[in-house]
Amino acid sequence: MVRIHRLSAHLRRRFGERVQKIPLDAGFSCPNRDGTLSREGCVFCNPAGSGSGLLERGLSIREQWDFWRDIHVEKHHLSLFTAYLQSYSNTHGPAARLAQVLDELRGLPGLTCLAIGTRPDCLDAEKLDLLARSRERLGLAEVFLELGLQSANDATLAHINRGHDAAAFAGAARAAAERGLTVVAHVMAGLPTRDGREGLAELLDTVAFVNALPVGGVKFHNVYVCRGTRLARWYESGRYVPPTLAEYLRWLGESIMRLDPRVVIHRLNGNPASGELLAPDWAGNMRRMHNAVRDYFEAEDIWQGKLNGAESGPPDWFGPEVGDKA
Ligand code: SF4
Repeated sequence: MVRIHRLSAHLRRRFGERVQKIPLDAGFSCPNRDGTLSREGCVFCNPAGSGSGLLERGLSIREQWDFWRDIHVEKHHLSLFTAYLQSYSNTHGPAARLAQVLDELRGLPGLTCLAIGTRPDCLDAEKLDLLARSRERLGLAEVFLELGLQSANDATLAHINRGHDAAAFAGAARAAAERGLTVVAHVMAGLPTRDGREGLAELLDTVAFVNALPVGGVKFHNVYVCRGTRLARWYESGRYVPPTLAEYLRWLGESIMRLDPRVVIHRLNGNPASGELLAPDWAGNMRRMHNAVRDYFEAEDIWQGKLNGAESGPPDWFGPEVGDKA
C-alpha cells in the first residue's frame, strides 16, 4: 500500500519518469548569519554543513550542473532534472542578484523544475514576481519555493533565534501561491523551547497551521544536534535532549494522519551532512530511518490524511509505488 503522497510519485505521474534534483550553490548568505538580523544563526544551524562544496572549488552554476548531471546520466540514464538552490537563503540580498542567478539557469540541459530554499522574510513582491516569471522564461514545469517555517509557535521561533515569526511565513506563502509558485514548508519536530523542547502537541499545531495555508509540499525534519552549534552546547550541558527514534516515529505518524492528503511530502526526516552529527546516533543512519518509518506506518496502519480527508484509505494519487526517495 502506498501510504503517503511522495514527491517522487508526484513527479513521475506528471512527467512519466524520474526527475532528479541537482544541488546548486549560488553563493548566497543568510540574514541570520551575515549580521543583517544576527551573526548567531538559528541555534541548530551548522553553516559548514550547508552546500555541496563545488562553489568553493570555483565551479560556476553551469559547471556544478554538468558535474552532477554527467553522473546521473551516466549511472542512471536520467534526462529530467530539478535545479535545487539549497544552501542558505537564496533570495537574500537585492532582487538583481536573484535575477542574475536565474539567468544563469537558462539553457541548462534537462532543466525541468526549480526548487529554491529561502526564508519568508527574504521575499518581497519584486522577488516573487521574478520567480513567477522564471517559469515561462526558463521553461519550467514547476517552481518549488522551499520556505523555512520550522514551528508555528512564535515563542519557539524566538527561542531558536529564527528572526521571523509564523505570520511572516503565512504572508509569504499566500503571496507566493497567488503567483503560481508551489510552497514547500519546512517543519521541525523536537525544537528546543525555554522549558525543554516541543513535542507532539506543538508539532500538530504546526501541521494544522500548514494545512490552513496554500502550501503544496512539506519537508519534515527531526531535530538533531550538529557539532559547533549553540544547540550542541545546550546538549552537552544537559539543557537539551533530542527526540528518541520512538518519539519521532509516533509524532511523524500522528502528523502524517492529519496532513492534507493533497500536500506532497518532500522529506520525512533530517539528513545530517557527513561528520556534523553529534546526537542522536539514529539520525545518521538513513537506511535504518527509512525502514523504521515504513515498518511503523505498516504496523500502526498509518496513511496521510487518515484523520483529514482520506478516511477511507490512501487516495489513488499517492501511487504508483516507484521506489524512489522523496
Ligand atoms: S535561516 Fe537557515 S541558513 Fe540561516 S541561520 Fe537559520 S538554518 Fe542557518
